[in-house]
Amino acid sequence: MKRALIAAGMLLFSSFAFSSDGAAWDYTGDAGPDNWAKLSPEYSSCAGSNQSPINLTGFIDAKLKPIVFNYKASSSEILNNGHTVQVNATPGSTITVDDIEFELKQFHFHVPSENQIHGKSYPMEGHLVHADKNGNLAVVAVMVTEGEANKALAKAWAQMPKKGEKVALSSDISPLEILPAKRDYYRFNGSLTTPPCSEGVRWLVMKQPISASKEQIDQFLHVIHHHNNRPVQAVNARPVLE
Ligand SMILES: [Zn+2]
Repeated sequence: MKRALIAAGMLLFSSFAFSSDGAAWDYTGDAGPDNWAKLSPEYSSCAGSNQSPINLTGFIDAKLKPIVFNYKASSSEILNNGHTVQVNATPGSTITVDDIEFELKQFHFHVPSENQIHGKSYPMEGHLVHADKNGNLAVVAVMVTEGEANKALAKAWAQMPKKGEKVALSSDISPLEILPAKRDYYRFNGSLTTPPCSEGVRWLVMKQPISASKEQIDQFLHVIHHHNNRPVQAVNARPVLE
């Protein structure tokens, strides 16, 4: 599997895609979040002071510039790495933040949400993971409420992979379909929410949620088997901007 990932140019993201490169970790038990930093020296950042997710509150008005979304519909692949279900993006979808272009690499989901807003948890959260040409990461997070079915998820989950499977998608999916209509956002500095918990990640959390049907959320849980949200981490000295 690893060789296939390298061939696909996804080496940088092997930690997102498949955890088989590092020590096994989980969301419960001895290999659960409280112990991630102790599982491997490579996971030491999991005990860092700028970790994600967080409870977003105490906002500072920073007059944030709009994120420029340049997303294209394309067909790619969907995989289940045992920790999440992830759609890999084909090259060419970008966002611009801080006058820097970040390319969309993949998006995946957590049930329930990882981040909270004013202490509120959501039934699901989507993470759109981007990287700039230097490998710096920017994650656009979208909260998901239970309601109308989501179009992109309907297409993706028509081909829902079982644990360890990767499937070529037969229909085009636009990442725009998992963004809300209004793109106002909160911003903070954080980390990957899974080992190795690397810090220095720009987190851009959409204020407006999208919706997915109960069936779509249940379908995800059915193949992941259990919740896959890391608990909220200490905010420490970090400002949360809006
Ligand atoms: Zn995530």
